[in-house]
Amino acid sequence: MHLDTPTLAIVTVFLTALLGGLLVFAGLQNRAVRAPMTWGLAFLLSAVGLGLVTLRGVVPDWMSIQLANALVLAGLGLVWVGAREFDGRAPRLAMAGIAPLIWLAACAVPAIGSDINARIIVASTLAAILAAVAGGEVWRGRAEPLLSRWPTVVTLFIYAALMFARVPLTVLMPQPKSAHLLTAGMLYPLLAFGTLLFAVVLAFLLLNMTKERSELRHKTAALVDPLTGVANRRAFFAGAELMSAQGHGDGSALAVLLFDLDHFKAINDRFGHAAGDAVLTTFAETAARTLGARALFGRIGGEEFGAAIRVMHLGEALAHAEQVRHAFAATASADDLVPTVSIGVALENETAGTLAALMAAADHALYRAKAKGRNRVASAVFAAMEDMPRAEEGERRAWRKLSASA
Ligand code: GH3
Ligand code: MG
Ligand code: MG
Repeated sequence: MHLDTPTLAIVTVFLTALLGGLLVFAGLQNRAVRAPMTWGLAFLLSAVGLGLVTLRGVVPDWMSIQLANALVLAGLGLVWVGAREFDGRAPRLAMAGIAPLIWLAACAVPAIGSDINARIIVASTLAAILAAVAGGEVWRGRAEPLLSRWPTVVTLFIYAALMFARVPLTVLMPQPKSAHLLTAGMLYPLLAFGTLLFAVVLAFLLLNMTKERSELRHKTAALVDPLTGVANRRAFFAGAELMSAQGHGDGSALAVLLFDLDHFKAINDRFGHAAGDAVLTTFAETAARTLGARALFGRIGGEEFGAAIRVMHLGEALAHAEQVRHAFAATASADDLVPTVSIGVALENETAGTLAALMAAADHALYRAKAKGRNRVASAVFAAMEDMPRAEEGERRAWRKLSASA
């Protein structure tokens, strides 16, 4: 197979410019994510640099060598700057200029500037460092679950490794002094081909990360309660519905815990709405931590929260509820602000089996916990036994609430 370097080089130049344009377009489309604009600029600068390289012999050497490589290095620097911006770190735009400056300074040294091999070593080392640092930057943001993050890291690291590999390769197999990259040997077609693939893959992944980021934000906004960061009402009911529908061959039963903070209106009135918000956040954090990852926990509305968890028996569900109640009381910030919570617990095999019936039973239990003096846990079974005549009223109340949510 014959790889025609000039053709490859020209395709690479135009494709890189085109990809840069697409990234800028993506940046204009979604101003909330700033990085694509920077990445677009990175690709456009690199395209100009690569274009100047292909004009070797047509334009003066300082343009096709010094300036061209400085632009490509500035482009790689901007990939790094964009990666910082993408994850909300300070962009450090000036630092993108450091590698090009080092390059230009090195070229000013006659021993380097006039020696193609020395130039290759300097430029490759700088490019490798920038790609590795950019890859590391993307990796640092790994806590955010974006699928494209990993291939982006790998792509940048592979590029960095190949650039580093050019250093020993150049020492072992120096280029002849007169080498012209568009005509000499097999190395340059491969290099041009590699650059082409790198540009396409990287641009695709960067665009995808941007897209995944905004999808994740929309998803989060739709399912997460903005004040407490736990599942919102919609997410809680959808998740509980799923847990209720799933089989339970292990003999476990779904338990629902409904929490309602006690005298919360009084906390707001005495300490202010912001203090009330802080209590809500503290409760959500405490309950989510206490219940652990096995439980689905969410804010149903106002100062009411819910949890769904699989348990082997009622005692286990009541123990979970008691743990949350104690942990919450332990968060008291002052002697005169000891927040308490009432909790209603119901188990699926006590009810007709639908989630709505389970929620209604838990809500009735909660009602009983309140009636009995608050700051306590009540179970649906005992609530129903204790209070037969009022059960119907509680059930109606629960149903009204549930239907209001649907
Ligand atoms: P009980 O012990 O019977 O549950 O009494 P309570 O005062 O907690 O119950 P009530 O339902 O009368 O009051 C709930 C209060 O919660 C009223 C409302 O202003 C307040 N609230 C609802 N959502 C928020 C919120 O997001 N932030 C704050 N600070 N308060 C909220
Ligand atoms: Mg309430
Ligand atoms: Mg309340």
